[in-house]
Amino acid sequence: MDPLSTLVHTILSQNTTDITSDRAWKALRRKYRTMESLARADRDELAETIRMGGLADIKAGRIIQALNDIRELTGRLSLDFLRDMDEQEVDRWLSQLKGVGPKTRAIVLLFSLDKTAFPVDTHIFRVTKRLGLVSPSADREEAQEKMAELSKPVDYFSYHVNIIEHGRKVCSARRPKCYQCLLYDVCNWSEKKEHRE
Ligand code: SF4
Repeated sequence: MDPLSTLVHTILSQNTTDITSDRAWKALRRKYRTMESLARADRDELAETIRMGGLADIKAGRIIQALNDIRELTGRLSLDFLRDMDEQEVDRWLSQLKGVGPKTRAIVLLFSLDKTAFPVDTHIFRVTKRLGLVSPSADREEAQEKMAELSKPVDYFSYHVNIIEHGRKVCSARRPKCYQCLLYDVCNWSEKKEHRE
């Protein structure tokens, strides 16, 4: 996916599951065939189109704002020019956009620009803190930096995907299955014993 589409798709995926954000993405692309038409979209109409993805009013506003900011800053609706920048430059450039946080920036870097970044979503944030890889007081940005430091760039993609899977299937927020977790012995979480049975 090109970087601009990845940016929009990632905004849609905030606080929802892959299945619902994919549905919202397909509905959005059916209605708005070009980024031009999406940038000109009526906010309420866009929110209706992506309603199934949750937080539709907020996401619609963020998408329209991001597209219009990009056009204002570059004179066009494309982020392909980011391919010629290094990671820090891309991160700095994207951080000018309202509503585009560290996770979204890292996803654009890793998944559509093939650059090194370690996106930390809500599952990775929880699991790495419980394991003790990331300090309990770290914010999302610090967690991304720490995970990038702890792993080799070649492993970022697979660690990212596998830790999310672990967070969804085993180390869930409310009822972690510590009793069947392969990482039990190396996990630092003080409450793990309570979830052993
Ligand atoms: S032992 Fe429990 S808290 Fe620790 S990683 Fe496994 S499931 Fe998560």
